[in-house]
Amino acid sequence: MVTHDLRSPMQGIAGFFELVESGLIQVTPAQGQQLAARGRISSMRMVSLMNDLLDMEKINSNTVKLELEEINVDSAFAEVQQIVQESANRSNVRVVFSETGMNITIDHQSLTRILLNLVTNAIKFSPPGSTVTIGALQPQSSSEEFVEFFVQDNGRGIPADKLEMVFQRFQQVKVADATEKGGSGLGLAICKSLVELHGGTIGVDSTDGKGCRFWFRIPNVPKKDASGIISEAKTSGLPNT
Ligand code: ADP
Repeated sequence: MVTHDLRSPMQGIAGFFELVESGLIQVTPAQGQQLAARGRISSMRMVSLMNDLLDMEKINSNTVKLELEEINVDSAFAEVQQIVQESANRSNVRVVFSETGMNITIDHQSLTRILLNLVTNAIKFSPPGSTVTIGALQPQSSSEEFVEFFVQDNGRGIPADKLEMVFQRFQQVKVADATEKGGSGLGLAICKSLVELHGGTIGVDSTDGKGCRFWFRIPNVPKKDASGIISEAKTSGLPNT
């Protein structure tokens, strides 16, 4: 995967610069612009993959630390919307963040990271003209001790036998999801680890071909250890994407 997604594009970019430097090819401004755009997209994909690999490494080495704080869910939604809006416009997908009026105690960076991954995927796998809905549900009864976040799309869905597999590292439903959609298959594994660090659970419901509803449940009450101190885990700067 690293060979395919990191080394090959890097070699391609280096090879191109070598040719330009040698003067063996003459590039018109229009060609130059096109090549620069392709190089920029490849570089952005590589940066995103490296961020995912570094996050995964932090999680595996137990150095991710959660900084639990009470935050407003609607403000967190607004932050995510600002980041994804441009790509949603480009894909002609409507993103609707439902107002919740809720507060939650959570690690802010983790929440942003999880929502960004789920919403970005939903946009990526949605047909033009469709809608992605994001929301959060209050506990329905006093026995329920978690807040449920959800991201729902009307895309191609996930086959029943792959619903659990997509949360494992490097797992994608189709081989083309890496090449055509530019993914690495690490995002959902990172989301799962971050949710579980909060003592929560994550899953997806889907009827194949009729969209997905990803959800994650975060305990309403901050996780405390035996001494009553909020979980030792503290985040150390997970990148946002
Ligand atoms: P990436 O998106 O980088 O490939 P993820 O771990 O986020 O990695 O997702 C793993 C795979 O799960 C995707 O490649 C895709 O096959 C499937 N998937 C995720 N979200 C959706 C969705 N909303 N609709 C359909 N398939 C999805």
